[in-house]
Amino acid sequence: MNFLKKISFKGKKVLYRVDINSNIAGGKILDDLRIKSIIPTVEWLLKDGAKQIIFLAHQGRGRERSPETVLDLHAKFLGELLGQKVLKYDSCRDLKIPEDAQLVMLENVRLDDEADPDKKKREAFAKVLAEYGDVYVNDAFAACHRDHATISSLPKLMKEKACGLLLEKEMRALKPLMKGEVEQPFTIIIGGAKIDTKIGLIQNFSNKVGEILLGGGIANTFLAAEGFDVGASLKEEDKMILAQEIALTLDKRLFLPTDVVVADEIGQDAESVDLPVEDVMGEMMILDIGAQTAKKYSEIIAASRTVIWNGPMGAAEYAPFRKGSEAIALAMMKSDATTIVGGGESVAVINALSIPHKNFSHVSTGGGAMLEFLGGKTLPGIEALQ
Ligand code: ADP
Ligand code: MG
Repeated sequence: MNFLKKISFKGKKVLYRVDINSNIAGGKILDDLRIKSIIPTVEWLLKDGAKQIIFLAHQGRGRERSPETVLDLHAKFLGELLGQKVLKYDSCRDLKIPEDAQLVMLENVRLDDEADPDKKKREAFAKVLAEYGDVYVNDAFAACHRDHATISSLPKLMKEKACGLLLEKEMRALKPLMKGEVEQPFTIIIGGAKIDTKIGLIQNFSNKVGEILLGGGIANTFLAAEGFDVGASLKEEDKMILAQEIALTLDKRLFLPTDVVVADEIGQDAESVDLPVEDVMGEMMILDIGAQTAKKYSEIIAASRTVIWNGPMGAAEYAPFRKGSEAIALAMMKSDATTIVGGGESVAVINALSIPHKNFSHVSTGGGAMLEFLGGKTLPGIEALQ
C-alpha cells in the first residue's frame, strides 16, 4: 500500500476520491464529519506542491439530479474550510479545466456511470476521468466496499496512486479489531435499515465476538424469522431463512429486543407506545427498541471491553424513536473500553447528544464499509490501491 509520504505531488494534478456524502435538508448540510475529515489530506497535498486537486465524490444513491444529489453545498463548504474557492462543475465529462484552478470539484459521479451495473460503462467512465489527472488518491473509506468506477476502476488506470490520510487512519484504527486482536468480552451492536449489507456480516463476526445486540430494521427481520408478528414494520422477507440460520449459530449470544416502541406513522410528532414484542400486530410499525431492551443492552455494553456500534436502533432521525439509540451512545460514552462507532446515522445520534468524539476510541466515517472491513472482506477500493 502506498501512503502519501511515498509520493511527490509537486506540480501534479491529483484525482482525489472522497466520501463526503452527507445529510442534506433545507439547503443545508446537517453533518460535517466527512467533509472535515478530508482536510488533513488536502492540506498535505497543497503543502507538497500539488498543482491541482480534483475532488471526485458522490451524494445520495440514485442517478436523479436534485438539490439533494448535487455537490454545490459541499464545494462551497469545503471552500470556506480551506479559505480558497473550489471551482465546481455540473458534470464530469468534456471539461476544459483551467490549469491555474487549484481546487476543482466535478459533479456527483453517481449521476454519471459511477455505479452503472454494466462494468464496461464504469470502466469507460473511469477512462474519461483518468485524463484529468496525473495521480490518484483515495480517502473514500465509506465507499471502499463498492466496486464503482472511481473506487476500483480508476486507480487501476493510474500509474501513481496512494491511500489518503483519512483512509490510512481508518485502517489503522480498525485493523486490530479485524484480526480479532481485541480484549474480551467483545460486543457488537447492529441496527439501521440496510439489512442486505449487514446481515451477512453478522455471520462473519459470529466467531470473533461474544454478544451481538440487534435493533432497527435488522432486528425486525430476526423477530419475524422467530415467528413474531412484526405488523407493518420494515423487514426483509427474503432474508428470513438466513436470519434463522444466524440465530441458530449464535444461539444465546444473539440479543433481540424484548420490548419495542411502535407507532402507525413515522414523523417528529408521531404518537408512540412501548410494548412487549409479543403484543405487536396489525398496522403497528416497530420504530425503536423499548426501555427494557435499552437497559439490558446498556448493561451488556458496560460489562464489555470492546464495543462496536453501527446503525441506529430505530428511526432515530425522529425524536419519538431516538431513545434506544441514545441509550447505546450514552452507555458507550461512559465505558472506558475500546469503543468504535461507525455509520452516518449512528454518528448523528452522538452529535445530537453533543458527545465529543474523543469519548470514543474511534468514530469511523464508514458504516457498511467499516463492517465489511472488520468482517475480514477485502474492500475493492483498498485492493485497487495495492
Ligand atoms: P447507518 O448509516 O448508521 O449505517 P443505516 O443507513 O443502515 O445506518 O440505517 C439508518 C436508517 O435506518 C435511518 O434512516 C433509520 O430511520 C432507519 N431505520 C432504523 N430502524 C428502523 C425501523 N425499525 N423502521 C424503519 N426505519 C428504520
Ligand atoms: Mg446510512
